[in-house]
Amino acid sequence: SKTPMRVAVTGAAGQIGYALLFRIANGDLLGKDQPVHLNLLDLPQALPAVKGVVMELDDCAFPLLAGVTITDQPKEAFKDVDIAILVGARPRSKGMERADLLTANAEIFTVQGKALNESAKRSVKVLVVGNPANTNAYIAMKSAPDLPASAFSAMLRLDHNRALSMLAAKAKVPVAEIEKLAVWGNHSPTMYPDHRYATVGGKKLSELIGDEAWIKDTFIPDVAKRGAAIIEARGQSSAASAANAAIDHVRDWVLGSDGKWVSMGIPSDGSYGVPEGVMFGVPVICSGGSYTRVEGLSFDAFSQEKVKVTLDELNGEREAIAHLLA
Ligand code: NDP
Repeated sequence: SKTPMRVAVTGAAGQIGYALLFRIANGDLLGKDQPVHLNLLDLPQALPAVKGVVMELDDCAFPLLAGVTITDQPKEAFKDVDIAILVGARPRSKGMERADLLTANAEIFTVQGKALNESAKRSVKVLVVGNPANTNAYIAMKSAPDLPASAFSAMLRLDHNRALSMLAAKAKVPVAEIEKLAVWGNHSPTMYPDHRYATVGGKKLSELIGDEAWIKDTFIPDVAKRGAAIIEARGQSSAASAANAAIDHVRDWVLGSDGKWVSMGIPSDGSYGVPEGVMFGVPVICSGGSYTRVEGLSFDAFSQEKVKVTLDELNGEREAIAHLLA
């Protein structure tokens, strides 16, 4: 049988962690024939809760779960890991300014980037889920100079999946038949879900929908506000769908996306007017354990403006933390 792959998950005691770990152990992340060893990181005060989650993992008797390590030390958590899913982040507390939030998280992701640099496998794939995800991923990447920049990514997949589902419902087509959807930019309400290239069975999705006003007035704002709508309805933020998106992101990155476009936050290569290095959501195709950016797409005035707004926001976040990276 295969050698277990090591998967680190931070914020393991949190609600996304609770929705994520059982699926990883069940083989949803790396395949039904791939044993996994989980390395769980959380803050010292959260370790008793992590132990409780591990008791439940034990009680599932997952055949693919080869072992679990619990720690509050990043270097230990990332030792020899193949995959690192960084979920734990400092939540915004009452009265906290955006700059304070960015700074608090910059500290966490500087430490974790350095620890990955020192102890992870050189082939590690890192996904940042904890918000502000793109900037946290950027900080981790900058703090890990010995790892390739392409090892770091931020999660846009929940926005991508939300957009897919809304488009499928509107066009009355099965969600799996939609191809060539793109989500651009920052994982924040400024991200731009772009249906202009999307197709269903070779037909243009925009022609099937035939309602450009709906795209601008309903679809784009509803994707942006979906997280808030779930908090409103559930009294808690989305956790199962966020965990599912993290699984989709990493699984496709490792095992391939079958020729389909998926959206990932990745360091820019300078294309599409996005400065090199900016952790920006773009459409990619995954194959053979790596991603390839979809190239050569063009923008009309509306989409150009949408991309500019989300890029401006990301540039602002980067400027706010630049002094911490120097
Ligand atoms: P969650 O598990 O609900 O969320 C964790 C992070 O994911 C947050 O930053 C959250 O952002 C983000 N996120 C991204 N996309 C989504 C989405 N669609 N819906 C909801 N959240 C999303 O948080 P909990 O508070 O339950 O758990 C956090 C855990 O992290 C705790 O166990 C805590 O101890 C740990 N932690 C660990 C740290 C470390 O290891 N150094 C540092 C800080 C915390 P948002 O805040 O915007 O909702």
